[in-house]
Amino acid sequence: MPELFNDARQRLQQAIAHANLSEDAIASLQSPKTCLQVSIPVRMDNGTLKVFQGYRVIYDHTRGPGKGGVRYHPDVSLDEVKSLAFWMTFKCALLNLPFGGAKGGVTVDPKALSRMELERLSRGYIDAIADFIGPDIDIPAPDVYTNPMMMGWMMDQYSLIRRQICRGVVTGKPIALGGSLGRDTATAMGAFSVINATLPKLGRVAAETTVAIQGFGNAGAVLAGLLFEAGYRIVAVSDSQGGIYAPIGLDIPSVRQYKEASRSVQAVYCQGSVCSIVEHQAISNPELLTLDVDVLVPAALENQITAENADQVRAKYIFEVANGPITSAADEILAKKGIQVFPDILVNAGGVTVSYFEWVQNRSGLYWSLAEVNQRLQTSMLAETEAILAIASQKAISLRTAAYVQALTRLGEAIAAKGTRDYYVNHSDGKA
Ligand code: NAD
Repeated sequence: MPELFNDARQRLQQAIAHANLSEDAIASLQSPKTCLQVSIPVRMDNGTLKVFQGYRVIYDHTRGPGKGGVRYHPDVSLDEVKSLAFWMTFKCALLNLPFGGAKGGVTVDPKALSRMELERLSRGYIDAIADFIGPDIDIPAPDVYTNPMMMGWMMDQYSLIRRQICRGVVTGKPIALGGSLGRDTATAMGAFSVINATLPKLGRVAAETTVAIQGFGNAGAVLAGLLFEAGYRIVAVSDSQGGIYAPIGLDIPSVRQYKEASRSVQAVYCQGSVCSIVEHQAISNPELLTLDVDVLVPAALENQITAENADQVRAKYIFEVANGPITSAADEILAKKGIQVFPDILVNAGGVTVSYFEWVQNRSGLYWSLAEVNQRLQTSMLAETEAILAIASQKAISLRTAAYVQALTRLGEAIAAKGTRDYYVNHSDGKA
């Protein structure tokens, strides 16, 4: 497996060739601004002390404070957090949000911890990074295996440290603690806007479009529900333990209900009445990725489609809801096969867009209706989708490269506004 960060950076090199960027901007964007590694001591329920490793990376803050989620997962590493912060930088610029890119994580299996241990870990993480975050410095949010409750603990802990209520320091909070309506569904809603706007342009009708979704969490399960309601045929879904496949289409509300009750897509599906309505079979995550479907949605983790399995992918379109699910080597194989990939920094940008709305609402003290949040979200997602489609077609480049070109243009303008070599060296007007 290629080192994630080096692989992520390859996308930057490809896009630089198509963007009109100063040398300064290119140099500035090659490496993260700050990488923080912390040890978090947590008193466990049985009285022992465990020390967890945590990270916070700000990749770039030219366009505003850092912004990015916090991941709790056993595989969290500095390499992964750096890559996620890198993607956040381009995602925020692509959606024209006044933020830089950041990300955090703790190397932990959260399923092995009690709720009280998770609270102590979340508060301990904030204790460790409190000097490096803030509403105008860097603003965490949820990511894989972190949720609104944890964001509430984090905001509360930061407020205790600062001795003032600081709602704008964390987004994705519970509504009662200053969260935004629509944040819980934002990533899926944004992805749905992109999918449902582009597929008809490609001649596809919802009822005749089959979809497989890998990952059934905040992003994947909500998206499955939205696509199901819009008439798409969801033939396969999965979670970390495996998946289910029904060629005639799954009843997504039932799957969600059972998953919520038992925490496993595969284990519970046959316990309810759904089995008798829809015949289905158990499949593994690797099998799901190679199903003969129209649309494949990776919505779990990075590095799922690689040089090893890209050749077996049979979907016509891939919408990346997860961050970094396709390696750069796999990108080339998929392109040769004529599979169109809609990139993560566009497709999953709904989450950070509504996080931005939450931050704005926290700072203004004026809260918006769900309809207003969703309307603003849809307007942003559709505008950037159109822009990327136009750039890709004008420059005859992939949608991913087009998305990076659009983001790089905005980042380049911000870096240039602070002065570049051209400004300092090539102007000899003698004035300061
Ligand atoms: P989540 O914790 O709510 O759900 C993760 C899902 O992935 C779960 O269903 C889990 O069982 C499944 N999963 C874990 N390991 C897996 C594996 N090896 N194979 C298959 N499935 C596996 O997380 P989420 O918020 O839904 O995030 C999913 C992806 O979307 C991540 O890449 C995340 O970075 C990205 N994303 C999330 C948001 C957001 O707002 N939540 C925003 C942008 C991007």
